[in-house]
Amino acid sequence: MPPIVAIVGRPNVGKSTLFNRLAKRPKAITHDRPGVTRDRLEATVELDDRIVTLIDTGGMDFDAPEGLERQIVVQAEIALNMADVVLFLVDGKAGRTALDDEMAERLRRTDKPVVVAVNKVDGAEKINALTNDFHAWGFAMMPISAAHGHGVNDLAGALAELLPEVSENKDEPRAEPVEAGIRLAVLGRPNAGKSSLVNALLGEDRMIVSEVPGTTRDAVDVAVIRNGRRYVFVDTAGVRKRTRITDGVERYSVNKALGSAKRADVAVVVVDATGGVGVQDKRLISYLDKERTPFLVAVNKVDLVAQQDMLTLKKDIEEELRMCSHVPVLYLSAAKGKGVAKVLPLAETIWKECGIRVGTGALNRAMREVLDKHQPPLVNGRRAKFYYLTQAATPPPTFVFFVSDTERVRDSYAKYLENALRKLFKISMAPVKVVCRASH
Ligand code: GDP
Ligand code: GDP
Repeated sequence: MPPIVAIVGRPNVGKSTLFNRLAKRPKAITHDRPGVTRDRLEATVELDDRIVTLIDTGGMDFDAPEGLERQIVVQAEIALNMADVVLFLVDGKAGRTALDDEMAERLRRTDKPVVVAVNKVDGAEKINALTNDFHAWGFAMMPISAAHGHGVNDLAGALAELLPEVSENKDEPRAEPVEAGIRLAVLGRPNAGKSSLVNALLGEDRMIVSEVPGTTRDAVDVAVIRNGRRYVFVDTAGVRKRTRITDGVERYSVNKALGSAKRADVAVVVVDATGGVGVQDKRLISYLDKERTPFLVAVNKVDLVAQQDMLTLKKDIEEELRMCSHVPVLYLSAAKGKGVAKVLPLAETIWKECGIRVGTGALNRAMREVLDKHQPPLVNGRRAKFYYLTQAATPPPTFVFFVSDTERVRDSYAKYLENALRKLFKISMAPVKVVCRASH
């Protein structure tokens, strides 16, 4: 993991302007309105030949209680906990404020290196007048103009110098080993709560979230490390960009959702408990099912459902999902964090089931057992003969029966075979493919 440089500072001092400049991103991403959620809070950037993860703590929309003071405190906490170097940005034009002092006070209580950058020093003539105020804190200080770029290279150099040394000794790992986790796509209608859920899943670990290098601009993947495992949320651009949705730009596209699901191992379909399973949800779910995509359904916003209505809700959902009864359903509240902790372990279990492999011996014992229990029905006076069973592929587990006559295996019997194999091989939640092939 690259070292982390966190930018902290009050709203409107120019954090996102500086962030974009250091990340070499176009200006368009800055917002003039304070408090607007930005879609990109972290970036991998080069500071004087050193690769770092740059975090704009100001872009994070913290949960309640809101309020500037609160934001400052949380930003400082994040910076102090996660960052290797803290970049404290202030506004030279506005001068020193009480909030700046409060932030400085918190930052002083750390042994992390802190650099104060005094922004909006657009011309050389006023440097002293604009920076004088900030000497009192006793931090290293540099005048810059994020908008025009003055002093930004020097600042990058100063930050790079403060980064921890790169360990030369390869036998001495700097961090805990991280195992590969799974890739998830969070899908669902606008306002179902996808971004809330992703944010809740990122949780306190959001600081070590980083965009996965190499992903294209419209396919922003975000990785997070949880319990020593690295999870990737694919195509989160639309998910995290809340402004888009309220602007009405985002349209729900089942095709796009399916595309995202294909890039992931397991999909999470978020359904709004207050709206139930809508037509679009149903369409998406039936496609995912047809494509044998591993997925779970997260019924969100259960905090808005009265206790006495839960049973009815669960019955309704069960009814809507009866065409794919193996799909597990979680009832949760992303906003309240309720039930959210179950999502990743459940997705892992589904993915594990997807990889189940069964040996030939067990397969053919299983085939005999299921045929004995319910023999194939007579179709036009004759029964299909089943010769043998193989597992052709994972994921998902794909079982191929070689039979005398595929015409004589009706869908209902194939469904029986699928369910019987699920039970025998303990595949309760993953998709399973059962194929009958003719053999003579
Ligand atoms: P943030 O809320 O701290 O992320 O601040 P922004 O990056 O959104 O900037 C707030 C405002 O300050 C915007 O209107 C920017 O155009 C402006 N700004 C940022 N950097 C400079 C600068 O170097 N000079 C001047 N004059 N304005 C700047
Ligand atoms: P997205 O469009 O699917 O990404 O949905 P958002 O995550 O932006 O959520 C849409 C709205 O639903 C926002 O106003 C959220 O605050 C709200 N919301 C999300 N999850 C919950 C929840 O669990 N309970 C309640 N009451 N509201 C929620």
